[in-house]
Amino acid sequence: MKKEPVKAKELAPVRRSNNFSEVVLGYDEAEALAEAGRCLQCKNPICTSGCPVGINIKKFINCITQKDYKSAYFTIREKNDFPSICGRVCPAEYQCRKACVLTKKNSPFASPEAINIHFLERFVGDYGMKNKLEIPLEDKNKLSKFKVAVVGSGPAGLACAGELVRAGVKVTIFESLHKTGGVLRYGIPPFRMPRDILDFEINYLKKMGAEFVPNYIVGKVKTLDELFAEGYASIFLGLGAGIPSFMGIDGENLCNIYSANEFLTRINLMSAYRFPEAHTPVNIGKHIIIIGGGNTAMDAARAALRLQNMNKIAPDTTIVYRRTEVEMPARRLEIAHAKEEGVKFEFLVKPTAFIGDDKGFVKKMRALRCELGEPDSSGRRRPVDIKGSDFEMDCDIAIIAIGLKANELLTKVTPSLKIDKYGDIVVNPETMETSAKGVFAGGDIVGGEGTVIEAMGMAKKASNSIIKYLLQQ
Ligand code: FAD
Ligand code: SF4
Repeated sequence: MKKEPVKAKELAPVRRSNNFSEVVLGYDEAEALAEAGRCLQCKNPICTSGCPVGINIKKFINCITQKDYKSAYFTIREKNDFPSICGRVCPAEYQCRKACVLTKKNSPFASPEAINIHFLERFVGDYGMKNKLEIPLEDKNKLSKFKVAVVGSGPAGLACAGELVRAGVKVTIFESLHKTGGVLRYGIPPFRMPRDILDFEINYLKKMGAEFVPNYIVGKVKTLDELFAEGYASIFLGLGAGIPSFMGIDGENLCNIYSANEFLTRINLMSAYRFPEAHTPVNIGKHIIIIGGGNTAMDAARAALRLQNMNKIAPDTTIVYRRTEVEMPARRLEIAHAKEEGVKFEFLVKPTAFIGDDKGFVKKMRALRCELGEPDSSGRRRPVDIKGSDFEMDCDIAIIAIGLKANELLTKVTPSLKIDKYGDIVVNPETMETSAKGVFAGGDIVGGEGTVIEAMGMAKKASNSIIKYLLQQ
């Protein structure tokens, strides 16, 4: 008999859209067993080819069916240091679940029947955390004379630091913000990434001996050469992609037009949703428009809608995207959650200008309707303007979420680091070594915006290379 996929429990939309509590509650043991029991245990499992770090998915799911959660945990940890994090944020429908044999052929993303690998991974990761399962430390003596500087405390920096401290290296993580975690803290809201999970992972690194130095901008406080002069034998750069892109249209600098980065940072990092109890405010309006179709747009829209509800403003939050829902890069789950919560969507719409009042505050957005043309370099069908289709939308807050690019603060003062035309750091993809001796890089600063697991995968590769490099010193 065909077994139906097990849906993970969620907070109902009415219970979640006026607060920042976690929405997806995950599987309990019985649900995890039922979902794991759907896995066909294929002779040649192809799901692993869809995971950027190549987790042995068949094996860990089989361990779940045997109720051997400890082995399931250690199987995942062979490739992924943070299963509780990835199980929550991985876009599995484009990765492992898409590769699952139960996904229908030529589907742009996983079919609903595909095994819920990410929810099983979350279950196992949370089990490991609750039961304090620890990876044994390697022989510390070999590498304990070395210290390595990790720049940036996002997923890439954390993953690299974890691998190095486990190998016995002394690691210092420099972070420009006052709190650690990168996008996991300042970008992804707590309703998707509860802070206790992140804090647990960071505290665990501290417990293993990693030192965190916040409020420290490498490139401004100290250059890479100065860090080397202080005795760091190697440096890992996990700088992320922190600079928001804009559309360059008329009126984009009017008041109450935010980059999604600023909007989300105010809310997530500075707790603006608790203002005035927290010091940083964020403006909120009656007609909020978010431009973009990625995870950042979904997070900004869902956070904005929550703020409207919390402030007793009738919610009117609209995502405007120039293609259709199919081409949206956001996770399918987040799109579905946004809709359930009341976020509206305007597809095939391209903003052309913002119009302000005499005090310089945005009041309307002018836009054009589009239709889909031929595929562009991304493989997605290009939006083509429909002439004469201009229209206006009420808009007293606009949030631009059309992408992020590299912050060149550090690379500008480090001529030995080769960068590409986007400002991303160029590395040898086999070793993640940069053009500067002893300097390695990974995450979004290499190749642009990616995913959490891709950043961690690159960091893991880099940490292996760093260890080899140290052993040659
Ligand atoms: P980051 O997470 O950006 O961390 C870089 C860190 O380096 C930052 O803390 C920064 O302050 C610090 N830094 C930068 N320069 C310096 C310097 N000179 N000195 C010291 N510190 C420095 N991916 C998913 O897989 N699933 C999702 O659901 C998802 N949702 C997302 C939602 C949002 C809003 C955003 C913005 C991204 C999302 N992503 C998601 C993408 C994912 O978060 C990134 O791919 C990932 O965080 C990249 O990790 P990183 O460590 O390279 O960079
Ligand atoms: Fe799938 Fe992500 Fe887990 Fe890999 S890390 S198996 S892609 S959910």
